[in-house]
Amino acid sequence: RPYKASENRYEKMQYRRCGKSGIKLPLISLGLWHNFGDHDNQDNAREILRTAFDNGITHFDLANNYGPPYGSAEKNFGKFFSDDFQQYRDELIISTKAGWDMWPGPYGNFGSRKYLIASLDQSLKRMGLDYVDIFYHHRPDPETPLEETMGALDQIVRQGKALYVGISQYNAEDTAKAARILKEQGTPFLIHQPRYNMMDRWVEDKLLDTLEEIGIGSIVFSPLEQGILTSKYLGGIPEDSRAAREGSYLDKSQITKELVEQITRLNKIAAARDQSLAQMAVAWLLKDERVTSVLVGVSKVSQLNDNIEALNQLNFSESELKEIDSILNY
Ligand code: NDP
Repeated sequence: RPYKASENRYEKMQYRRCGKSGIKLPLISLGLWHNFGDHDNQDNAREILRTAFDNGITHFDLANNYGPPYGSAEKNFGKFFSDDFQQYRDELIISTKAGWDMWPGPYGNFGSRKYLIASLDQSLKRMGLDYVDIFYHHRPDPETPLEETMGALDQIVRQGKALYVGISQYNAEDTAKAARILKEQGTPFLIHQPRYNMMDRWVEDKLLDTLEEIGIGSIVFSPLEQGILTSKYLGGIPEDSRAAREGSYLDKSQITKELVEQITRLNKIAAARDQSLAQMAVAWLLKDERVTSVLVGVSKVSQLNDNIEALNQLNFSESELKEIDSILNY
């Protein structure tokens, strides 16, 4: 079935400026870490992308090693892109990354110039793109000089292979250092991608302040704590859930009785707000303007639709926030 994007696609989504840049990102973006590999249902994956774009989700986030196997999410995305989204290229922000394990030997991991430049070339081929909008260094590398890694990001932009650069998982101090180098080089540093959700608040310590000082935005990953911050684990562990999936980063053993009690209480607050828990978890992140976009993953179109409805209720009362903090021991 040929795809034509919904004409109403920009009616509902809201967009937030990414730091002090010229770019605005949708409040909700879509990540392709899971559900787009070779073992996943391709029709489902295609429908997720179409639904996202039809709802004004203009940003798709990838990485070299998303799959499994490594590279397959980019390859499959490339197929959907060429079938469905080619004509909308200038309406899309597509990102990819390098920094984690990708190919064997000493040049397929971490942060060398050698790895980053070769990896992006591979990613562009797999996706069938001339350039990505954002290229990230995926995680800090304690052994490679930051000047080398940031120099590689700069070169990538000058080669026209990325329009902007970002970093992921860097702490506040290294982020400030990276920003200084990128500024000296004149590299367009757009964004930081940290892990952030109601249960994992490390960014509140220093990172968000640092991002504001530098003038860059943030897009936060695992906003639903990989699905824990939804109603799905309230009645046990569904067979088709990430916790049940072999080899995923969410293990059944993490769904403890105490955790389910907490989720149950959070779910009640969400219900009183006329929201699903997933929607409340998304809204909770967006209350801070320094969070430019919430990067969700979904295994089903219905989950994506659920998450998008978070936009209907983004406000919190003081007492709701306090109750959430007390349930989560903050
Ligand atoms: P989430 O916390 O959003 O978890 C996504 C999972 O939660 C889904 O796959 C689904 O799991 C479940 N889910 C989502 N919405 C709902 C809903 N409404 N109701 C019930 N269940 C729901 O994020 P991810 O951990 O997937 O991360 C999101 C993106 O962030 C990634 O795709 C990637 O782009 C990026 N990322 C970046 C990292 C980095 O190092 N920079 C690291 C990790 C992720 P189920 O399978 O159980 O249905």
